[in-house]
Amino acid sequence: MQRLLMKSPVAIAILWIGVYLAITLLPLLVLLFYAPPEGRGFWTELSVALGFIGLAMMALQFALTARINRVEASYGVDIILQFHRYTSIVAFGLILIHPIILFVTEPETLQLLNILEAPWRARFAVASTTALIILVVTSIWRQPLKIPYEPWRILHGILAIVIVAFGLAHALGVSYYLSLFGKSVLWGAIALCALLLLIYVRIIKPWFMTKKPYLVEEVIPQRGDVWTLALRSHGHDGMPFEPGQFAWITLNISPFRMREHPFSMSSSAVNPERLEFSIKALGDFTNHIKDVKPGTRAYLDGPYGVFTTDRYWDSAGFVLIAGGIGITPMMSMLVTAVERQDDRPFLLIYASKTWSDVTFREELEELRPRLDLTIVHVLREPPEDWQGETGYVDRELLEKYIPLHRGSRQYFICAAPVMMDAVEAALFDLEVPVTNVHMEHFNLV
Ligand SMILES: Cc1cc2nc3c(=O)[nH]c(=O)nc-3n(C[C@H](O)[C@H](O)[C@H](O)COP(=O)(O)OP(=O)(O)OC[C@H]3O[C@@H](n4cnc5c(N)ncnc54)[C@H](O)[C@@H]3O)c2cc1C
Repeated sequence: MQRLLMKSPVAIAILWIGVYLAITLLPLLVLLFYAPPEGRGFWTELSVALGFIGLAMMALQFALTARINRVEASYGVDIILQFHRYTSIVAFGLILIHPIILFVTEPETLQLLNILEAPWRARFAVASTTALIILVVTSIWRQPLKIPYEPWRILHGILAIVIVAFGLAHALGVSYYLSLFGKSVLWGAIALCALLLLIYVRIIKPWFMTKKPYLVEEVIPQRGDVWTLALRSHGHDGMPFEPGQFAWITLNISPFRMREHPFSMSSSAVNPERLEFSIKALGDFTNHIKDVKPGTRAYLDGPYGVFTTDRYWDSAGFVLIAGGIGITPMMSMLVTAVERQDDRPFLLIYASKTWSDVTFREELEELRPRLDLTIVHVLREPPEDWQGETGYVDRELLEKYIPLHRGSRQYFICAAPVMMDAVEAALFDLEVPVTNVHMEHFNLV
């Protein structure tokens, strides 16, 4: 069994789902061992059960977002964050239904909403639910509400703690079930785990990061308003990674400040002591990369991600489809392949706005003779004498270039969301097996 788990990522992924379900449903199992109290009907029991599951799911969000490498390595950050979003919405629904059932079946409980006179257990419930509503609204509509990412992230963390802490205080206050021994031990354990995860994320992990600093070696200007930030490990062996993965960078401040940004490595995985990140100037943080001075201190949390050719050592070749700055993980895959003398065919379909915008244009040309590499540039605004592909990467263009034996290759897509969706749909249309298509989203929220 242990050997199977060590060898099979699918088995590990299923195991994590089992752990998740067990923790979420455990409160219910404990309830089953105890007879319901006198006079409490089905609806009250159901309401309590839904509240417990919702609270357990909210507590588990700390584990989902703690960037635990083993969990991350099984699914990839995209899937974990999707799961985080959907389970938060399910938990939100359960937590809202919990009091609504009570209000409908026992209308006198509506008085508990009068927080001036209501007992503390009800006040905690109102505070926890209000925080949850704010959290859901600010997360789903962050961009339309024009909330900048960094303040949002701080607010999100605070609200999450308030929801779980006050939710637990409410459950303790109601106390019938929590006075049961098994239940109180269980909730104590869940609360303790959430607290330990918080300590791990806020204190232990940043502390480890301070032990492995990096220094900026150079900042190299690239085409397309991109700067390559080259970091050299300082007093340690660097960060081993697989080409295509990413890390969270903290630049010029302490990692305890928790102001970090995710970037894919664009350099070769063969050299983990010098890591390069190619960064497009798009906002507050990225606009200042060009001004970073050599010698500036940096810290890395990583590597993360499953968007890597290294997971498919038995693939006959690779199709890399990049749009704009989505070229960075592909660049790492290609330079690593060159250094490892990988003789498999690589097809790079690379969409850019103009010819002068093409990041790594010259570097890619240099790779061509050193690798079985076909490059197809697709320009939205081509120069007059342009002989190559133009417009968008669509079904027709893909059909022209991808191999006839679609399933013999692994396909990697990294681009703007609209292009990723279109390319994914086109590949499925062309009967590329769904398990052969891998995507990296640069916008987490
Ligand atoms: C897995 C992954 C790999 C990435 N790799 C690259 C890369 O190789 N090169 C590159 O140029 N960009 C990459 N990005 C995107 C990059 O992280 C954002 O462009 C950058 O964080 C924007 O920060 P800003 O303050 O300059 O922009 P802002 O204008 O503040 O933010 C623009 C958008 O970027 C996102 N963002 C901002 N701050 C953060 C943060 N701290 N954490 C997460 N998202 C944030 C938000 O969606 C925000 O709406 C990657 C993103 C992810 C998720």
